[in-house]
Amino acid sequence: MIHITDRADCCGCTACAAVCPHGAVSMRADTMGFRYPAVNADLCVECGLCERVCPFNNGYDKSRNIAPTSYAVRHKDMNEVTSSRSGAAFIALSDRILEEGGSVYGAGWSGHFTVTHKRAASRQERDGFKGSKYVQSDMDGIIRQVREDLGKGLSVMFSGTPCQVAGVKSAIGKQLAGHLVTVDIICHGVPSPAVWKDYLGWLEERRGSEIISVDFRDKRTFGWKAHRETYRFADGGTMHCKTFTALFYKHIMLRPSCGRCPFANMERPSDLTLGDFWGWEKAAPDMNKDDKGLSLLICNTEKGRALLERAMSDLHCKAVDIKDCLQPNLLHPSSISKDAPAFEKDYKAGGFRHILPIYMPEHGLRRLLQQLKQLIK
Ligand SMILES: Cc1cc2nc3c(=O)[nH]c(=O)nc-3n(C[C@H](O)[C@H](O)[C@H](O)COP(=O)(O)OP(=O)(O)OC[C@H]3O[C@@H](n4cnc5c(N)ncnc54)[C@H](O)[C@@H]3O)c2cc1C
Ligand code: SF4
Ligand code: SF4
Ligand code: SF4
Repeated sequence: MIHITDRADCCGCTACAAVCPHGAVSMRADTMGFRYPAVNADLCVECGLCERVCPFNNGYDKSRNIAPTSYAVRHKDMNEVTSSRSGAAFIALSDRILEEGGSVYGAGWSGHFTVTHKRAASRQERDGFKGSKYVQSDMDGIIRQVREDLGKGLSVMFSGTPCQVAGVKSAIGKQLAGHLVTVDIICHGVPSPAVWKDYLGWLEERRGSEIISVDFRDKRTFGWKAHRETYRFADGGTMHCKTFTALFYKHIMLRPSCGRCPFANMERPSDLTLGDFWGWEKAAPDMNKDDKGLSLLICNTEKGRALLERAMSDLHCKAVDIKDCLQPNLLHPSSISKDAPAFEKDYKAGGFRHILPIYMPEHGLRRLLQQLKQLIK
């Protein structure tokens, strides 16, 4: 049976829980809100299936990979581009699957801005997956739904982080995978769901009003390259900040497995890979002059290439040399900060308010300067 001794060995893909024929594996959250498998020994019959499917520790399927080809891609509809993180490649690809009567899976919202994987059978439902949510999404129960859809003969597009894709493929197996197409993102690592939840509570307390919309990276206001958050409140107010973003880039609240990620390379577990096209100035200078965003799309399999061809009528697309668009997380995993264990301990002791002055002293200084400026006015 699966037993996690080092948390860096588990990405939380849920494949082990999905395959257990006895329902013995459940996913339980740690202090940071990252979920790990826990086995009910009374139900387990020691069949070993959960261990065998683990893509994080047993390698992942690359048998259908072809030499990757890369493209600069932007949706022809600018409304789609401005409401997506980069060039809205995801929209063009998923539209084809929906038009063919299939289902699309991706990271959306549930409850009060909890990042959760969901199923969509319409454009309206799928639109909830638009935009990058820089928090690990909850995959509970999703692989079973994917399996059910495939069992009914539906076409399914699953999108998510590379480890989620590898988990879905491993748990589904080759027999059912004929109608499954997978899309992963270039992945910098996923921040803590618990810190995210606490952070929202802290923002609401400061404002005295409930948050009604979240944009993790507001390109409409600040441009595509900038990384600034925007929150809208029930009282009609808006707040722009970059506190969660700064903690993200400090690498102190990433899932431990992200520092050992086996997918941070060009041998992708997916049919297609999407990312922000950094380096477009050299590789595709005419495609992002307005700074609205451009997608990097990498075709990893013939199945991926076939879907791209079906989506092509909606896209501006230029073939590019992969050497001109390599970026850090296509070459190696992010390094987890040496302060991450202390951060977790401090977070456990006192929550978000406690860690803020310790790990973000610049935040206190900025507020003090703002207050002084207001006094001088
Ligand atoms: C945590 C995270 C780290 C990233 N790191 C990088 C990076 O280092 N370099 C880079 O080039 N690109 C990175 N990206 C991907 C990039 O931001 C865009 O998502 C990608 O370019 C697709 O853009 P789009 O315009 O085609 O579609 P969009 O509509 O913007 O993206 C939607 C897609 O992202 C998926 N998605 C959104 N949030 C999550 C989540 N929390 N977990 C799993 N899937 C999610 C959805 O399922 C959907 O497939 C990251 C995204 C996330 C969520
Ligand atoms: S060993 Fe078999 S029965 Fe036990 S938890 Fe794993 S899959 Fe379930
Ligand atoms: S990586 Fe996935 S399959 Fe492996 S133990 Fe963690 S949740 Fe289970
Ligand atoms: S960095 Fe790797 S382990 Fe972490 S979420 Fe991304 S794909 Fe998964």
